[in-house]
Amino acid sequence: AKQAAQTFDTKAIQKLDSAHYLHPFTDFKDLNEKGARVMVKGDGIYLWDSEGKKVLDGMSGLWCVNVGYGRSSISEAVYQQMEVLPFYNSFFNTTNVPAVQLAAKLVEISPPQFNHVFFTGSGSEGNDTNLRMVRRYWDLLGYTDRHVIISRHNAYHGSTVAGASLGGMGGMHAQGGLPIPGIEHIGQPNYFEAGRGKTEAEFGIEAASWLEQKILEVGPEKVAAFIGEPVQGAGGVIIPPATYWPEIQRICDKYGILLIADEVICGFGRLGTWFGSELMGIKPDLMTFAKGVTSGYIPLGGVMVGDRVANVLIEKGGDFNHGFTYSGHPVACAAALENIRILQDEKIVEKVATETGPYLKQQFATLATHPLVGFADSCGLVAGLNLVKEKAELVHNCVLFDAEQNVGMICRGYMFGNGMIMRAVGDRMIIAPPLCISVQQIDEMIGLIRSCLDKTL
Ligand code: PLP
Repeated sequence: AKQAAQTFDTKAIQKLDSAHYLHPFTDFKDLNEKGARVMVKGDGIYLWDSEGKKVLDGMSGLWCVNVGYGRSSISEAVYQQMEVLPFYNSFFNTTNVPAVQLAAKLVEISPPQFNHVFFTGSGSEGNDTNLRMVRRYWDLLGYTDRHVIISRHNAYHGSTVAGASLGGMGGMHAQGGLPIPGIEHIGQPNYFEAGRGKTEAEFGIEAASWLEQKILEVGPEKVAAFIGEPVQGAGGVIIPPATYWPEIQRICDKYGILLIADEVICGFGRLGTWFGSELMGIKPDLMTFAKGVTSGYIPLGGVMVGDRVANVLIEKGGDFNHGFTYSGHPVACAAALENIRILQDEKIVEKVATETGPYLKQQFATLATHPLVGFADSCGLVAGLNLVKEKAELVHNCVLFDAEQNVGMICRGYMFGNGMIMRAVGDRMIIAPPLCISVQQIDEMIGLIRSCLDKTL
């Protein structure tokens, strides 16, 4: 592993951190009491902290470091672009070479209905763009009442006001008066939680029918779009039954509603396809992307705009009054081009589909024999398991822990202290390792998870 660029006193950095840095999604008081762990370098699937401790990063940072840490060719591409043109915007009829090349590349690797891209700086901004773009689309067609967007409980679509409103996180809605008007939520396709007494296939159809019920409740003439992550990530890695998405597509088609796939986590190979919607067998009109587009090396996001929407926006004309200083940032686009080259040249997406994804599925499922685990499943290289107090043969009969026991957080703490980053969402423990992980490293990761589960017992 490369050496960390700087040396410093950990305690001094922690002190400055507590004194001046307000972290995202954090209890500031609690963190000030505990002090933050200082991460200093990464290589492949591993990170090192300031004490020299090595950790297997089971979360790819925040579901983003798809090609792994320490890729010098991305830093080189960034450096070269910074030397030539560190910034220029794409407002006022200008453009830049990496942004154009990246737009063309994204069109090449995405499904055929996508021939246009709108760039943003993040996934949240991508979903803000979706909200404004679908409403503009319907306005341009003369349907000015068609503004409602339907999403799902526990969806995560970002942290801007529109992103958090589209998202279905109760904790986020409780602060700042969200959601904004014109957004509705339906249940998530969580078989473990809501599928009692049904087969997975039956439950998938039922969960999709909640969309039709909501459309009829709102009035079909008022519904602009449905948005969903192919596999819900931050909501706990909820892998929907195979029947779910095709039924959602059928319902959207029936009512002429736009379908938005939020591919911020699932895009760029996470499920073994370039985009998760390909695996789910759906044809979205818009796709949000971010994270994996640059493997997190530098911020970049955007929306792939399908022909149905792009043709109307272009043919009808008139300004689309939306955009960001960093839309099409040349340095970020240069990083993305190199990142996609790596994914293609190393056949990483294919490996997730044929080698590492199936291997993780097999190995992760073995964790279900652990006395603490009620249910364990994966899709490509994203996986989740449910911690339970008492197991039962039928998963729906498992006895759950009381929420106040915070068993997920306790388990996460053991993992963190024992060389493994795994995230807790309630009592669901989830992973999304870098896509460059090998089968041997999957064995190492499963071994670490198992030993930490033993400690949690
Ligand atoms: N959409 C999904 C599915 C996400 O998982 C995230 C972030 O985790 C976002 C949107 C927001 O992206 P960002 O944090 O880049 O704004």
